Amino acid sequence: MKCGMGPEVRDLEEVSINLDPIQAGGRLTADAMKAVIAYGDGYSVCDHCVRPNRLDYIKKPGIEQFHKDLAGFIGMDQVRVVPGARRGFQAVARTYICKGDPVLVTSLSHYTEFLAIEESGGIPFEVQAGEDRIVSADAVAETIEEVIRREGRNPQLFFLDHVDYQFGNFHPVRDLIKVAHTYDIPVLYNGAYTVGIIPVNGRDIGADFVVGSGHKSMAAPAPSGVLGTTSERSDEVFRTTKVRGDRTGRTFGIKEVEMMGCTLMGVTLIGMMASFPHVKERVRHWDRELSNAEMILGSLLSIEGTEVLSEYPRRHTLTRVDTTKSFDVVAKKHKKKGFFFTSSLKEKGITGIIQGATRVWKYNPYGITREQAQYVALSFREIAQENGLNTI
Ligand SMILES: *Cc1c(COP(=O)(O)O)cnc(C)c1O
Repeated sequence: MKCGMGPEVRDLEEVSINLDPIQAGGRLTADAMKAVIAYGDGYSVCDHCVRPNRLDYIKKPGIEQFHKDLAGFIGMDQVRVVPGARRGFQAVARTYICKGDPVLVTSLSHYTEFLAIEESGGIPFEVQAGEDRIVSADAVAETIEEVIRREGRNPQLFFLDHVDYQFGNFHPVRDLIKVAHTYDIPVLYNGAYTVGIIPVNGRDIGADFVVGSGHKSMAAPAPSGVLGTTSERSDEVFRTTKVRGDRTGRTFGIKEVEMMGCTLMGVTLIGMMASFPHVKERVRHWDRELSNAEMILGSLLSIEGTEVLSEYPRRHTLTRVDTTKSFDVVAKKHKKKGFFFTSSLKEKGITGIIQGATRVWKYNPYGITREQAQYVALSFREIAQENGLNTI
């Protein structure tokens, strides 16, 4: 089926169990799908926009209230919705980083943080994660000292991912933020894999900024996300325009510079709002997700030679495994080579693992049912057994 003469209909989520790490938490709820249809037109949220004419003041639909609720949900004083976590990074980077400024990231930081730094002219310094692939407070302190020695001043900002995208490991953000704060370095807590997935309270954690991704973790359409700040920082990041037209003398009220005035004007925001009650509920059931993930990993680890590269036991569903000594041994002799594994999975209706991967790969069973998780666990073992691998 096609959308008229346009693109094919996408039915991947309907016809398969999708384990794609970046797609799991962004699948729309049925309510978000309704919102998508109802608010698909361009500036659809602007019907009742009245003075002072800014997105976060719109009362109908309840966008103003949603901002308050969202701030409460992530434990910050002020929030704005942004077109993706990366646009949140960008707003903060452009506010605090000047050309040549040192900025702290980690060896597991997401590329969008690097790009935000690059655009602002900053210089990234990576805190090296330990052998356990976790960033330690000591490593943060040492890196800051090293930056001070080399650059003669503090890093201006610290981008810190609570759960990293590579291993899905939890980093001790509270402790790491404490260290940064002893040097007066503001910290951006990157919750791309946490906000909307587990309960997050920025105030408790001590973050100056909290960023979340709507389309990665809040069951919202892309591009969407949230940027929260403390009241101490909100006037800086959310500063209003001071510019003036030289001929007309026009000024632009309370439009915020980093937000380019208004951000999510339609389907993205309303989709996020429609999913929000479900998201608030689902963060309370993280234990179910973890137990599904545990079952699937248990099955993988029962295949002789398979190793887990993520921290273990798992605390997040996003997991990286190494099957060099199991599925890759099969790939070497199989007529389909490395594609035997993902094509066997596909035959069983399981997708989302990088095609042709048989060595190091990631998956994320977030959001699937218990029965689906059992089926996935069984399927991995079946593929192993069918190809002569030992299972315990
Ligand atoms: C996916 C991801 C991002 C980017 O999120 P967007 O909402 O797509 O901009 C940033 N950081 C981490 C750790 C991520 O996993």
